[in-house]
Amino acid sequence: MYIKDMFRTKEVVYSFEIFPPKTASSVETIYHTLDALHDLKPDYISVTYGAGGSISDNRTVELSSLVKNKYGIESLAHLTCISSSRATIDAILQQLKNAGVENVLALRGDVPLNGKAAGEFQYASELIGYIREHHGFGIAAACYPEGHIDAPSLEQDLEALKIKVDAGADYLISQLFFDNNYFYQFLERAEQKGIRIPIQAGIMPVANTKQIERIVSLCGAAIPRKLLTIMERYEHDKTALRDAGIDYAVEQILDLISHGVQGIHLYTMNNPYIARKITANISPLLDAKNRSCNSHE
Ligand code: FAD
Repeated sequence: MYIKDMFRTKEVVYSFEIFPPKTASSVETIYHTLDALHDLKPDYISVTYGAGGSISDNRTVELSSLVKNKYGIESLAHLTCISSSRATIDAILQQLKNAGVENVLALRGDVPLNGKAAGEFQYASELIGYIREHHGFGIAAACYPEGHIDAPSLEQDLEALKIKVDAGADYLISQLFFDNNYFYQFLERAEQKGIRIPIQAGIMPVANTKQIERIVSLCGAAIPRKLLTIMERYEHDKTALRDAGIDYAVEQILDLISHGVQGIHLYTMNNPYIARKITANISPLLDAKNRSCNSHE
């Protein structure tokens, strides 16, 4: 099933993101993670793509296939193009097709530190146009409520986003953010720009201060004072930080659903405990929204 069609039948699409285990020996842990995430009944699960992904050892293909074929959950395979030749992209898309995976998150990927991009595609929009023309997948793309870190301005980033949408993206998933106001302002600007496809809000629960600091330094998301205080207060108490991080994410998601967002994409960091707690807390509102959507059909 194409994920874009879920937005027609659901008021709020709810999905999870996982990443492939780093080593073959940790494959067992991913089964444990997927068993637990499966019970939470997400609408789909996306699988990230490592910058060094190769055709012969492609864990994204393997995991996306597992999600779809063993767990019966729709999967979305991430795919980056900046460091891959067209032949590699074709081969990976063929592997996905053979595995029955129907949806791809088409990304540029980060420019390698040496500045040399081996790929033939410079931007995600080029990859999206190529997939649209040569392969039959449902296509998602990334968006950045606070602007992409390389973009000279919010306006230029929005123009680049419009190019991606016009190239054929079906829907968007946002970069993580901790202040919903940025997301609401972004939705308004996107609407004014003529971007009319569904936009899912990407939410990352804070479970580990170091990890969040690293991610924030990479993507430039602002940390509101309230969250900074939480991170400082519980810096040395892992359990308290995890629980406060869950509460913060739940509050963010409930506010987003109440404001009518079309989807929530939870960056689970392969942590089923956190995903379970968050899902339990947001389910009553999520279910009520989706029930009211069905009763209007
Ligand atoms: P693009 O849309 O190509 O944009 C990149 C930059 O170029 C932006 O600054 C944009 O404003 C500018 N730009 C775009 N088009 C044009 C144009 N035509 N002219 C001028 N400027 C332009 N990375 C991974 O390696 N693996 C993953 O699995 C992964 N998953 C992600 C999932 C989500 C939901 C998100 C939000 C990001 C993910 N990333 C992942 C990170 C992503 O690869 C980086 O943010 C990357 O730097 C940009 O990718 P993009 O597809 O948004 O690029």
